[in-house]
Amino acid sequence: MRREEFPILTTQVHGQPLVYLDNAATSQKPQMVVDAIVEGYTHWNSNIHRGTHYLSQQATIRHEQARQQIADFIHASSAREIIFTKGTTDAINMLAFSFGEAFISQGDEIIVSALEHHSNIVPWQMLCERKQATLRVIPLKEDLTLDTEAYASMLNARTRLVSVAHVSNVLGIRQPVEEMIRLAHQQQIPVCIDAAQSVPHMPIDVRQMDCDFLVFSGHKMYGPTGMGVLYGKEAWLNRLPPYQGGGEMIQHVRWEGTTYNELPYKFEAGTPNFIGSYALSKAIEYMTDIGLEKIAKEEGLLAQYAEAQLLEKIPGIKIYAEKQEKIGAISFNMYQEGRLIHPFDIGTLLDQQGVAVRTGHHCAEPLIDSLGVPGTVRVSFGLYNDREDIDRLIRALQRTISMLS
Ligand code: PMP
Repeated sequence: MRREEFPILTTQVHGQPLVYLDNAATSQKPQMVVDAIVEGYTHWNSNIHRGTHYLSQQATIRHEQARQQIADFIHASSAREIIFTKGTTDAINMLAFSFGEAFISQGDEIIVSALEHHSNIVPWQMLCERKQATLRVIPLKEDLTLDTEAYASMLNARTRLVSVAHVSNVLGIRQPVEEMIRLAHQQQIPVCIDAAQSVPHMPIDVRQMDCDFLVFSGHKMYGPTGMGVLYGKEAWLNRLPPYQGGGEMIQHVRWEGTTYNELPYKFEAGTPNFIGSYALSKAIEYMTDIGLEKIAKEEGLLAQYAEAQLLEKIPGIKIYAEKQEKIGAISFNMYQEGRLIHPFDIGTLLDQQGVAVRTGHHCAEPLIDSLGVPGTVRVSFGLYNDREDIDRLIRALQRTISMLS
């Protein structure tokens, strides 16, 4: 049983067995990932690269093997295209700085969408402010999908980059990124995909997708925190300047000037999280052993079941992007006699019944503002969730309604 491989899932919360439905914020870790961290510090902890001694070589081998495993996992052409970061946010900030230094000047335009996470908004806003460029926002249609016609008309000779989420962390719906990339490429505009909410749930093939950059976080895919990835096509990464200076990213340092290391090290200043990269490679092994197609199928069926149960059994529920295919997450609100029950109250009462969900703006304030509510309740799934979890959620929501009425 998969569930038993995740030690934290045996936790009791307020005297009840935990139902963990907050996977979009962070997922739990299988024993083999926890073991990998312990193993690293117990057996081969040592700073990597240029080490002549045994432990350093052991750590280096594992770190670079992890990079290759990640490259294979997303079907990158080479491990040189995998830059280790602290997470999605760090990766986007790195790209915004570096790409911005090389390619953005006054009057240029960058495109994001109306449903982005703050980490795919604010770094671009900061860049636009620095360079007096303009951030343009793809609007949403009534059904909360992106207005792709509006997007097509926004692409122009001043557009320098498009950066959009593959799957919305609030709505759980997938964006037509392949078509968006194709349209951008017709005008030689590169595209960055925020895959934080897709990599944990489906197979990813960056070459098939043809994105120029793709970012994701280890902690949302059963791996460790403080570990993420910036994938970039080698041709693009070679054209970008380093983000931070320091050790590892240099070839030679002279008072007259410094020459930079080759890819991927040019973007990896300082001692990297080599225990984290190893643990992330174990998370990837765990997911790959189950099979990404299988994970996608099972979670898809679970999301369908959850949405059907919510609609059938919870009076006054409003599901956002209702009846559209959900990947990993469903957001909703509940109304009693036409009045909104504050999502925070629902989250608190669910917690008392052992059910962990997230409430609020989910770091996507512009999207939540456009829904005209203070927040939503979001249930989000991982590969250990099952129908029993959904049934517990439904019973807890029914109890919540009766407590509030
Ligand atoms: N983008 C999306 C779509 C996300 O869901 C998240 C995390 N909620 C992030 C970016 C930021 O990820 P991190 O906090 O791991 O940097």
